[in-house]
Amino acid sequence: MNLIGLSRAELQSELEKMGEKPFRAKQLWHWIYFQGKRDFEEMTSLGKPLRQKLIDSGYTLNRPEVVREQNAADRTRKWLFKFNDGQSVETVYIPEEDRGAVCLSTQVGCPNGCVFCHTGSQRFTRNLTAGEFVAQFMAARDSYDEWPSPSHETRYLSNIVVMGMGEPLLNYENVKKGLQIIMDGEGIAISKRRITLSTSGVAPMIPRVAEDLGVKLAVSLHAPTNEIRDKIMPINRKYPLEELIAACRKFQEIGGTRQYITMEYVMLDGVNDSDADARELMRLVKGLAVKFNLIPFNEWRGCPFKCSSGNRIRRFSALLEEHNYAAPVRQSRGQEIMAACGQLKTAAGQA
Ligand code: SF4
Repeated sequence: MNLIGLSRAELQSELEKMGEKPFRAKQLWHWIYFQGKRDFEEMTSLGKPLRQKLIDSGYTLNRPEVVREQNAADRTRKWLFKFNDGQSVETVYIPEEDRGAVCLSTQVGCPNGCVFCHTGSQRFTRNLTAGEFVAQFMAARDSYDEWPSPSHETRYLSNIVVMGMGEPLLNYENVKKGLQIIMDGEGIAISKRRITLSTSGVAPMIPRVAEDLGVKLAVSLHAPTNEIRDKIMPINRKYPLEELIAACRKFQEIGGTRQYITMEYVMLDGVNDSDADARELMRLVKGLAVKFNLIPFNEWRGCPFKCSSGNRIRRFSALLEEHNYAAPVRQSRGQEIMAACGQLKTAAGQA
């Protein structure tokens, strides 16, 4: 049994089954999530008999296997991680000057099938467990040898974006549990202010993110009207824009309007990038505290779309900014290793 992914209460109950006192769970938590140890023998404060019992009982602290690691010229790093059942996901680290964000996956493949998304063209296989979700981040930290958990000021893997393969709100219980482990102040300790969860618009679950987690929200909006969104994001037929925007309002009622929502908007030539689209977009989000993130489309083989021209993207951004919306154009990172936004896909999915 892999102990990574158990809540504190579950860890305690495992230890109680072995006849151990509750405080042992706190110690073990520290060794697993603060020190990042993978070997029970190194957990000196546990005492030799308990260390031996953990080993003899067959507990593990396994990370996924690193099948491949690729490094881009801009220092973006992408891993292909394989889990015990042979399924794999991609995880990306996007560095800034003295910090950086790890982009975590939540599902093998994605059931949503957004037509512009490379991941969405991969068959959905399964959800990640909470343990697999957390172990993915721990494996990224192993790769940079960032143990024990450094203080926020000095850590390199400082932020998390839940924007990799999959739709997190279709695997909510596991993602919630995983993030609660990652946010725990006595372990990995990434603060909720440094975590952004991105959804394609599973409207009924959006308020839960504010209630349960308090992390930041990003919405893959990508279209100003139902007509356009229905064509490029099938999920819109289930949760149309009215429902999605109402859910965002609820999110801000709970989390406060200082909790800006980032509206992700991929720039698709001739599809969603006209001046009229920009105006419609502003009408749509009126009354919400939002900022936009304009994403030049990363083309991939077999995809029917082209990226909007540089001029068009600048004009679109300027229109939004004239009306006091932040609308920066996202710098694409890790493009040559297919690590950029919407490009993740595992070999299994390409078969
Ligand atoms: S954009 Fe997100 S939700 Fe849509 S198919 Fe890609 S991974 Fe899934």
